[in-house]
Amino acid sequence: MTSIYEFDQKDLENYFLSVGDKKFRAVQILEWLYRHQVSSFDEMTNLSVKASNLLKEKFSIEPLNLTLRQESKDGTVKYLFTLEDGHLIETVLMRHPYGNSVCVTSQVGCNMGCSFCASGELGKIRNLTHAEMVLQVLHVNRELAKYNERVTNVVVMGIGEPFDNYTNVIKFLRTLNYPKGFEIGARHITVSTCGIVPKIKEFADFELQVNLAISLHAPNNELRSKIMKINNAYKIEEVLDAVKYYLEKTNRRVTFEYILLKGVNDSVECANELARLIKGINAYVNLIPYNPVSTKKYLQTSHDDSERFFAVLHKNNINATIRIEHGNDIDAACGQLRAKELRKKA
Ligand code: SAH
Repeated sequence: MTSIYEFDQKDLENYFLSVGDKKFRAVQILEWLYRHQVSSFDEMTNLSVKASNLLKEKFSIEPLNLTLRQESKDGTVKYLFTLEDGHLIETVLMRHPYGNSVCVTSQVGCNMGCSFCASGELGKIRNLTHAEMVLQVLHVNRELAKYNERVTNVVVMGIGEPFDNYTNVIKFLRTLNYPKGFEIGARHITVSTCGIVPKIKEFADFELQVNLAISLHAPNNELRSKIMKINNAYKIEEVLDAVKYYLEKTNRRVTFEYILLKGVNDSVECANELARLIKGINAYVNLIPYNPVSTKKYLQTSHDDSERFFAVLHKNNINATIRIEHGNDIDAACGQLRAKELRKKA
């Protein structure tokens, strides 16, 4: 059965028109799903009996199946969900002074094969559906509702490459922003890509002002190709050209993510090279402390060396921040919880 969460306003309108009912059912239903967060069709009390019966016949309204929930000392919560076909995905809630941010998974596994990342270890199994992404946010929103809080920010930075699941992700972004639904401001939503050039260009035409983050992680092609397979398909210059195109079209700012890997990309030379590379681009650099993965050889850059890297960027007038780590006592880095569960089963 199709999940009701697969449908957006247009889909529901088309469906109800096709069965001889009214268009406005769509908005009624979406309000029940996302505003009132009901868990059964029977709770949708303003529907006609006919509409209600149709929904029950045609659609499921099942939530995601929670398999594991870990809560960190700093309030970060990590969820492991089991999908209908048995696959595992992760979602993370981070509590910030400015709001509640949810990190959403976009694929089961990942094909990008970044050498430092736990998510790509077993490759991509499949794309997540719109419903499966929506339900991650809904699950967290329901938990927060108990404390009169809600999800205020979403980052599509969980397992997977969102631009390798472009159509579903775009529909999901619209649902997040939908005024009768979650109503999350576009500027409070961020999508992160490892640098799929044609999709960065396509994203320049997306109507919502959603933030774009690019996982750069190295200041030159030689090094980037060593740690990110995607660099063999799209070189740094092509990624930067696509970013410039995006910036021209949208008049916005991008984020460059840069994981600091000890002895790999964290030298003063690398910092200087990075500064030269992105000079003049309206961007800021998010320096990410590496979250060690047990099966990988990489180590985290020390605090002092991270500060040193940051200082070089700062001296060169590059806006940068060092990301604060969240939930490092609970396997909160990308794909680690899932990878650990899969290893247990192997
Ligand atoms: N595929 C997308 C989004 C998912 S990964 C992308 O590449 O941007 C989100 C971010 O987490 C990326 O910048 C990724 O490189 C980074 N990341 C992956 N593994 C990590 C780890 N162990 N520690 C810190 N950051 C990691």
